[in-house]
Amino acid sequence: MTAKLISGIEIAKDIREELKVEVDELTNKHNVVPGLVTILVGEDPASQSYVAAKNKTAHALGIHSEQVTLDADTSEEDLLATVKKYNEDPKIHGILVQLPLPKHVNEANVLLAIDPAKDVDGFHPINVGKMVLGEQCFLPCTPHGILEMLTRSGVETSGAEVVIIGRSNIVGKPIANLMLQKRDGGNATITLCHTRTKDMAEHCRRADIIIAAVGVPKMVTADMVKEGAVIIDVGVNRIGKASNGKAILAGDVDFDAVKEIASFITPVPGGVGPMTITMLMKNTVQAAKMAADLI
Ligand code: NAP
Repeated sequence: MTAKLISGIEIAKDIREELKVEVDELTNKHNVVPGLVTILVGEDPASQSYVAAKNKTAHALGIHSEQVTLDADTSEEDLLATVKKYNEDPKIHGILVQLPLPKHVNEANVLLAIDPAKDVDGFHPINVGKMVLGEQCFLPCTPHGILEMLTRSGVETSGAEVVIIGRSNIVGKPIANLMLQKRDGGNATITLCHTRTKDMAEHCRRADIIIAAVGVPKMVTADMVKEGAVIIDVGVNRIGKASNGKAILAGDVDFDAVKEIASFITPVPGGVGPMTITMLMKNTVQAAKMAADLI
């Protein structure tokens, strides 16, 4: 079997078109322009490019976006003051603090300082708690993007055996929680694997859906995949540099071999990555609607 490609680029494009209609309606009918601020501390090149991509996408959708860049030695106190300023700014509906933060800043304190009603990354403990309880909240962007990819590709999750590799707070744990909820895109039976898992290959071979969020290039090999399984590859690993200086990327899945066995597979790049930014935009529009009492 040669798997069907689940293109994050194509699905993200569809969602952005839907969002553009919503943003136009909010702006023209309700006089509400959704606003997003991205706060970057330091000059990490990967973070700079993520933030630039977020602002570019926001701009293309008609979302008002502001970018704040602070020096790498900015104190936690000053960063908290910046967050507070945007918590109180009515033009801003979503606040994104780009992670990771420099080591001298306590990440948990910063995430806690963001107004939960503007927490478009979905990392505030209040939103995390609501997500676990299945209540209305901002869903974290990467897991939310994965759910959209599965549902829009017609993948049945109800009753499916899902193996997730990786238990990070931003991908593994939330996607596990979302897929066990009693609703569309959920109702799955979840196995969550990590470095202490005894026989990961054995777990994977039982899976109808494998979600790899590990950070180890090509770790999921063809012998670990059941015929017809659905493969979501979250990993983004820089494995070299092309002659034009661009990074060569690989996922956590051995794409060329696994695509011969799977029924659906996401590529890297062009899979989960484009969905993450799009779901940030979706959350920002949701935040603007909530602020205007439209939902
Ligand atoms: P993370 O915080 O580094 O966590 C990695 C997880 O993988 C941990 O739970 C770790 O287990 C587990 N792990 C590592 N090596 C393993 C092994 N050999 N066997 C089994 N489990 C192993 O990772 P993350 O932030 O979730 O990111 C994972 C990958 O996804 C990275 O490549 C990242 O760049 C990518 N990512 C992509 C997007 C996107 O939008 N495309 C978004 C987020 C992340 P322990 O807990 O036991 O240490």
